[in-house]
Amino acid sequence: MCRTAEIGLAITGAADAGPLTIIEATPVAVIGVCPDCGQPGKLRDHPTLRLVDLPVVGFPTRLHVKVPRFRCAAASCKRKIFQESLTCADDGAKLTGRVTRWILQRLAIDRMSVSATAKALGMGWDLVNKVAQNACRQLVYGDPCHLDGVRVLGVDEHVWKRTRKPGQASNLVTILVDLTPLVDGRGPARLLDMRPGRSADVLSGWLKERNPSFREQIQVVTMDGFTGYATAVEEQLPQSDKVMDPFHVVHLAADKLTTCRQRLQRETTGRRGRKDVLAYFDIGASNGPVEAINGRLEHLRGIALGFKNLNHYILRCLIHSGQLQDKINAL
Ligand SMILES: [Zn+2]
Repeated sequence: MCRTAEIGLAITGAADAGPLTIIEATPVAVIGVCPDCGQPGKLRDHPTLRLVDLPVVGFPTRLHVKVPRFRCAAASCKRKIFQESLTCADDGAKLTGRVTRWILQRLAIDRMSVSATAKALGMGWDLVNKVAQNACRQLVYGDPCHLDGVRVLGVDEHVWKRTRKPGQASNLVTILVDLTPLVDGRGPARLLDMRPGRSADVLSGWLKERNPSFREQIQVVTMDGFTGYATAVEEQLPQSDKVMDPFHVVHLAADKLTTCRQRLQRETTGRRGRKDVLAYFDIGASNGPVEAINGRLEHLRGIALGFKNLNHYILRCLIHSGQLQDKINAL
């Protein structure tokens, strides 16, 4: 029922502990080999490891796993005691690997808040936030393919924190958006990264940190009328076309859709469609994809009741709008 077999555990008991459900379990397969010398160990005892697992029928759940602990029998080995490693959780972890995936799914796909996610798991806000941020950092910054295939880059900025001094540079962030999937008709725009501030240096700095092959593959950069971004693009991406209107890219996508629609219409009805069908695309073009991401991030700030820490904010934005769903589901 709790699908513990798929994480290598067999259930030995269960208890209803008020707000928590406790599942007692043991590892299905035990190797019992010393990690240092590779010799089989002598069974010593079974300490209980407590792990947060997925909620069962709406209640937070704890796994109490009796993990075999061994004495190393080899006289020459420095290690005296070792414990069986579990497949369901990293050594020293407080939760199973599938809980990490579940947390990211709730935040990225269901758009839940950290506090609602923490409540469902019976965990503290800080730990859930830390788990989500570490996992997101790994998915985005630890993935060498994260920036592959970016040909159309969107740059924009927004105010992420309201303070008493409006217009302060520290209240602004620059957002970098991959518009390529949208132009190619493969999927929505995705948030690539964010940087504090809004200036030529902010964008130049980000571009300089990328490898040359990334900079060379950028064909189009869309931006608002801010000259600082234009200066940075002229310096760092001299080969690219600057588009001062982020909505332009939607027109590129809409043109492709129109060509496709006209072809299908000819094939299915043998005649051309009415001229005013195109009004749909004009309406679609009124919502620029970079602006749309800015709007979604505004919604995120609403769900989270605002942010104080910029690093937390950036990682939460990436979870929210980085189109990481496939990567999260594959964890
Ligand atoms: Zn040993």
